[in-house]
Amino acid sequence: MARYHMETYGCTSNRGESREIERRLRDAGHYRVDGAEEADVAILNTCTVVEKTERNMLRRAEELAEETADLFITGCMALAQGEEFAKADVDGRILHWDEVPEAVTNGECPTTTPDAEPVLDGVVGILPIARGCMSDCSYCITKHATGKIDSPSIEENVEKARALIHAGAKEIRITGQDTGVYGWDEGERKLHRLLDRICDIEGDFRVRVGMANPKGVHGIREELAAVFAENEELYDFLHAPVQSGSDDVLGDMRRQHQVQEYLEVVDAFDEALDYWTLSTDFIVGFPTETDHDHEQSMALLRETRPEKLNVTRFSKRPGTDAADMKGLGGTIKKERSKEMSAEKREIVGEAYADMVGERREDCLVVEDGTADSVKCRDSAYRQIIVRNASDHGIEPGDFVDLEITAHETMYAFGKPRS
Ligand code: SF4
Repeated sequence: MARYHMETYGCTSNRGESREIERRLRDAGHYRVDGAEEADVAILNTCTVVEKTERNMLRRAEELAEETADLFITGCMALAQGEEFAKADVDGRILHWDEVPEAVTNGECPTTTPDAEPVLDGVVGILPIARGCMSDCSYCITKHATGKIDSPSIEENVEKARALIHAGAKEIRITGQDTGVYGWDEGERKLHRLLDRICDIEGDFRVRVGMANPKGVHGIREELAAVFAENEELYDFLHAPVQSGSDDVLGDMRRQHQVQEYLEVVDAFDEALDYWTLSTDFIVGFPTETDHDHEQSMALLRETRPEKLNVTRFSKRPGTDAADMKGLGGTIKKERSKEMSAEKREIVGEAYADMVGERREDCLVVEDGTADSVKCRDSAYRQIIVRNASDHGIEPGDFVDLEITAHETMYAFGKPRS
């Protein structure tokens, strides 16, 4: 759980990107504070429209770098002239807008607040099914806030899901620090049973399952994959953060799972589903990560080819055991992160390129995008943008059949089939 300070400069489009960053940070349980000095991380969303703005951005970045532990610089100047910040010796990381939420998260699980009530955001309903986890990751500060898993009953969660659907939710996002261990405190992992019951609720909706650590899902992998195969309400999407391809590093991270268990989860889903999205996370540059460990992570990435991937460069969080370890140099972390991010772009880009020319039935229009576009999700939670939405008469909450016409690295473009 991080406290963040955010500043945005420039045009409406930049402000729209900041809104999206904030939405994702809020979904993950991070919260905004007033002033960089109060924050764990500062985010500077830059503009570079004229020279004077450029000078202001550099000055502001220098000030923020002094005031906070971590500075993330994004936006137009960061992406077009990122080297200017390095030349000015600003201690900050240049990131694409999309990369900021994961960087803030630092590899930790999202934070759900105790007794959090379901929230409706447009047609998206957020449903925290439990709080806490069963782990003690050495780099994580979230666990100090959330404690061990505390799971409300299946009935209670089904009622919350039903209330969201009645209130107009078309996409239910199931969240928690670790949804895979839901029920463990009562002696039984029962995520699969909960999902089955939610899918029985009457109505047209989709369910996305977030953050299920490999150890938790490993023991129920076959039952869980079967529930995904049987229920079309469930997006065929699994977020199982592996964090490293080296068992030694996983041990030092105290992640509880080993690489083999992660692979067995992936195998179970491969066997049950023809078309699905594997989402995972890697932390690069953990203090004890050797070149060989990093190579093992790269090999695991190439072997499993996740269609969605978050790469986080390790950074120390106060009060954690990993903060006391002797860290790797910034250059090593940067190089490893660059290498993995380049591989990610290739793997994810290929997944989206493969979709071009295909058709996707019943895609859910989830939210408005920029300039009269809408963002849709297909059955595997792949993102498809439809431009000129008003000409097609489609809006959030609709289900549409799409033909995929083009792609970018992280999403596809589609048009409604007539
Ligand atoms: S699983 Fe690990 S990273 Fe996630 S909340 Fe628990 S201790 Fe933190």
